[in-house]
Amino acid sequence: MTMKERTLLLIKPDAVQRGLIGDVITRFEHKGFKIVGMKMLHMGKELSKEHYAHLVSKPFYPDLEKFMTSQPIVAVVIEGKDAVEVTRLIVGPTNASKAPGGTVRGDFSNSTSRNVIHASDSKETAVKEIGRFFRPNELFEYELNDAFLYASDE
Ligand code: UDP
Ligand code: MG
Repeated sequence: MTMKERTLLLIKPDAVQRGLIGDVITRFEHKGFKIVGMKMLHMGKELSKEHYAHLVSKPFYPDLEKFMTSQPIVAVVIEGKDAVEVTRLIVGPTNASKAPGGTVRGDFSNSTSRNVIHASDSKETAVKEIGRFFRPNELFEYELNDAFLYASDE
């Protein structure tokens, strides 16, 4: 069964530095997802350890933390049909060198560590991760309204 869902994206420091914020977000808008929350922030070490709790014991964690806390990131919540699963398909595999063309990582990166974007990996994770980055009043319920396309210029 298909479901309206929300999921969290983080546009990582490499993508912000390379001027790819717009290109990355566009992929999700064009797929048909609605942006319901967005902010730029600096990820602190504590937030990194919480967000990557499942990876803190890995040998690459110190580099990951240094990278993710080095420069601002952009957090985006998108909403739409099967958002969690479909988003992971659009993002592509972790190792961007092996990610197929047409995916965000395949098109914009050639690295496992500097791989442009984070996306929640399950419905349960998405709920937790959205709550980690956004307060309820920073998320928006709104309908798309045709009236803007037909506004009178008078
Ligand atoms: N990562 C890394 N080296 C690795 C595996 C992961 O630097 O060998 C980094 C990479 O930035 C990745 C993040 O850790 O996106 C989180 O890893 P995860 O396995 O959750 O991959 P993802 O869900 O981002 O595809
Ligand atoms: Mg992950």
